[in-house]
Amino acid sequence: MTIKLFIPGPVSVREDVLAKMSGQMIGHRTKGASELQRNISNKLREVFFTKEEILLSTSSGSGLMEGAVRSCTAKRAAVFSVGSFGDRWYDMAVQNGIPADKFSVPEGQATQAEAVDEVLKTGKYDLITVTHNETSSGIMNPVEEISQVLKKYPEVIWCIDAVSSAGGSKIEVDKLGIDICITSTQKCFGLPPGMSFTTFSQKAVEAAKKVEFRGQYLDLLALYNFIQKKDYQYPSTPSLSHMYALDYQLDRILAEGIDNRFARHIEMAEYVRNWARNNFALFADERYLSNTLTVIKNTKEIDIKALNGELGKRGYVIANGYGKMKDLTFRISHMADYTPDDLKNLIAAIDEIIK
Ligand SMILES: *Cc1c(COP(=O)(O)O)cnc(C)c1O
Repeated sequence: MTIKLFIPGPVSVREDVLAKMSGQMIGHRTKGASELQRNISNKLREVFFTKEEILLSTSSGSGLMEGAVRSCTAKRAAVFSVGSFGDRWYDMAVQNGIPADKFSVPEGQATQAEAVDEVLKTGKYDLITVTHNETSSGIMNPVEEISQVLKKYPEVIWCIDAVSSAGGSKIEVDKLGIDICITSTQKCFGLPPGMSFTTFSQKAVEAAKKVEFRGQYLDLLALYNFIQKKDYQYPSTPSLSHMYALDYQLDRILAEGIDNRFARHIEMAEYVRNWARNNFALFADERYLSNTLTVIKNTKEIDIKALNGELGKRGYVIANGYGKMKDLTFRISHMADYTPDDLKNLIAAIDEIIK
């Protein structure tokens, strides 16, 4: 029996999308490769609501996160963390020798626009990172409000970790003024893990030019320059298999209608939240709930491992809490190509097990 994954990535991939991965190879220095990569970038521009450049990376999203903070910080980075993935971005800066400071809030709370303003007022920073959707706590940060603050600091590069939300929740990159908006294949895009992509603004290009050591494989300026010169080809051999599936999946996403896709995610989120409120409690601040996953306080102290064992017999799996919240919370993802009926079936199975 195949198990449907309701963990926050990777998610189960539709059979037709998966089948595209088995297409025969083409040379990565051919017109065909250029066309494939150009088409993907054009379609991704629609999903991200941007006219800026798109960079594809044969790495998971963490690669682009590391590349972004290293390639574009000339002075000092301010990392706003609301949980594990924000903390990881800070560690990436430190371990690359990038001067950085971390600004954290207790888990379950959001990054507030006023806090960003206070930090940027100091004039110490030329780059900030914000987690759009924190997968450990189920927080979706108020990026519209933060964007209003950023307007006062036009010299600052704004990086967003949208790994667990882009493609499932609306992020209007150009309107918000985001310079680098990063996501991976295996979450809301409903593809196998192994690739990632980001928006890359002209402002980010100029910022990177001022950074002397940007690394090599994940030097975002080098990727940008290469695709300009070589008609969307990449310096090293990319995962063409992922690209076949991504190109096809983007057609599906645009055919569904991007706003319909976001609405479907909200419908699934509301169903799970309501069930969680009635039976347990939500972990995150009610004002900033994620549209793509729900983190639930384990108020009934159920044995989550045992629950997953029972769910497994019925063809499902959910996630326990992240890190130190392993047994205190559990997480249900509602992203990518799942339907409200899938979530209803999952919840019905959980109800039957815990009743
Ligand atoms: C999954 C996730 C990551 C890590 O992405 P990878 O593709 O596994 O490298 C980073 N940030 C968030 C918010 C995530 O959910």
